[in-house]
Amino acid sequence: CGIVGYVGSDNACDFLIGGLRRLEYRGYDSAGVAIYGGSTFHITRSVGRIDALAMQLGAVPPNGTLGLGHTRWATHGPATIENAHPHLGGDGEIVLVHNGVIENFQTLKDELIQKGYHFVSATDSEVIAHLVAESLKNTPETVGQPNLRYLNAVQGAISRLRGTYGLAIAFRDHPNFMIAARFGSPLVLGVGKGEYFVASDASPLVGRTDRIVYLADHQIAVLTPEGFSVLHRDQGKVRVNIRQLETDS
Ligand code: GLU
Repeated sequence: CGIVGYVGSDNACDFLIGGLRRLEYRGYDSAGVAIYGGSTFHITRSVGRIDALAMQLGAVPPNGTLGLGHTRWATHGPATIENAHPHLGGDGEIVLVHNGVIENFQTLKDELIQKGYHFVSATDSEVIAHLVAESLKNTPETVGQPNLRYLNAVQGAISRLRGTYGLAIAFRDHPNFMIAARFGSPLVLGVGKGEYFVASDASPLVGRTDRIVYLADHQIAVLTPEGFSVLHRDQGKVRVNIRQLETDS
């Protein structure tokens, strides 16, 4: 159970696969990545080791500068390709990875099925992806600030969740930013120069940046190649402490 995300100008895939390997120690049964390149998200998932995922990505992995990845420790639905993350929401406009457990997923799932959403996995996580898509539909445009609209939509969606989550979410129609959110499942941000990272803990960031932000519960972050901002559910925009990562390498 781990999450990695990258927004910048470098090859996302290198960080994602390297990062997932460093999160291997947490334990997992399947893994996957989504990389935005050539006007679409390339999603690759596999059951078993990160080596299997790397193998599947092949000698020429998708070239893109935004992506997210996941190692899964199955709680809802067996360890299969269909249940491996990333999951899609709506008609594919939402791309999401989730760590944690959504306790009220069945209620939400029934509601979303009623509304016409189509589920392809047995996970609780897929519910969040469709919930964000539905929330987005009901969230007005914010002129000139698309990421604000998406942020509002994600906030609306997560306000309905009961349970725990670490989330990284990307958007097909605005592939230049990523949203991360946390409640009860650890998540850190890495602050680079013109590149920003998301990870379950600091280990994937070693060698890429030593400046990290520990997200707190109910915090949500927007990351673009130009910078990042953090909001708290009740307090609005928060000033975060950027900490220096100590390593003895
Ligand atoms: N509950 C989710 C699932 O079963 C996420 C598990 C995890 O944290 O890896 O897919």
